[in-house]
Amino acid sequence: MKETLLSFNKKELGEVMAALGEKSYRAGQVLRAQSSGLCFDEMTELSKPLRARLKENYGDFPVMIIKTLKSRDGTEKYLFSLADGNVIEGVLMKYKYGNTLCVSTQVGCRMNCAFCASGISGLIRNLDAGEILGEVIAVNRKTGGGLSDERKVTNVVLMGSGEPLDNYENTVKFLRLLGEKEGLNMSARNVSLSTCGLVPQMRMLAEEGLPVNLTVSLHSPFDGERAKIMPVAKSYSIAEILDACAYYFSRTGRRYIFEYVLIGGENADNRHARALIGLLKGKPCHVNLIRLNDVKEKGLKGCSERDAREFLRELTAGGLSATLRRRMGEDIEGACGQLRRRFLSEETGADPNEVCAGKTKETGGI
Ligand code: SAH
Repeated sequence: MKETLLSFNKKELGEVMAALGEKSYRAGQVLRAQSSGLCFDEMTELSKPLRARLKENYGDFPVMIIKTLKSRDGTEKYLFSLADGNVIEGVLMKYKYGNTLCVSTQVGCRMNCAFCASGISGLIRNLDAGEILGEVIAVNRKTGGGLSDERKVTNVVLMGSGEPLDNYENTVKFLRLLGEKEGLNMSARNVSLSTCGLVPQMRMLAEEGLPVNLTVSLHSPFDGERAKIMPVAKSYSIAEILDACAYYFSRTGRRYIFEYVLIGGENADNRHARALIGLLKGKPCHVNLIRLNDVKEKGLKGCSERDAREFLRELTAGGLSATLRRRMGEDIEGACGQLRRRFLSEETGADPNEVCAGKTKETGGI
């Protein structure tokens, strides 16, 4: 697979242009064009010979939308194909304040959490920075957005398939590319990075000088029970995670968030609520409760709406800042990795050679 220019920042694009004997302003043109989701043939600002040379040396726009599903609640689920034929997914959620896109950082995942569809077949490969960025650009284009203030995608969450901190360098590079002034120009303040709790990388991230919102998937206040649903808990204890969060706060001044998926009969009793309060009270954090989206392959069930509300009430009565997230996109298999699995088992992929962002070769939709 050829390297794509989407992983290059403005300075690196300048070096590419210089090596091709082109004027330096070409770097800005390419940056703007590819941040708009154009493939080489659409970059009509560039001369034909230059386009041909770029095509010869570099891969074209790496992410193509092959399927869009629209939920009753307005949530849109996208299935993307990559240049090597791999398939990943993203979800666009519409809120009053803007549109949040959830993107994948890996094809598959090696964390193997008990409730998550992404890890069922393990890790296939890391996405490179340009591919992660390509998901954002493709959906931005598809929904009619432009660059900088004209963006339709206003926020990004790294909560799709994959563990972003297990693909550390590409993820951090992506965060920096997102902020390119002549590109999407999106600050890391508008990005939330969700991790299952890879402690060393959480500490490294604190040093990057990026104002990204750190979210940790906690899912249990007890190490032993957590390890049953999240194998990674065998490597890092909750105490170590809390220390890393405190360090993150000390370096960035940013409050952190815990995700807590409520699984009926597993982690949603008042014993869990009390222990969570004991762990988190007084810390600069927020707890996001989510009712589990049932995953066929996993045999785990979400808890009832009533139990979820009761769990929330206990946390807030105990002094925690917490919310129960609206379930979104349930009817379109909104949770991590679900759509990709269904797609792979039911359909054959689109032509991976035809890669152009937002130019879709759709195979369906509801
Ligand atoms: N690896 C990262 C990011 C991907 S998972 C992490 O673990 O945080 C993003 C969020 O989706 C996590 O909080 C995860 O627990 C949650 N999630 C996964 N499967 C889910 C499901 N079936 N229902 C509801 N949330 C789910």
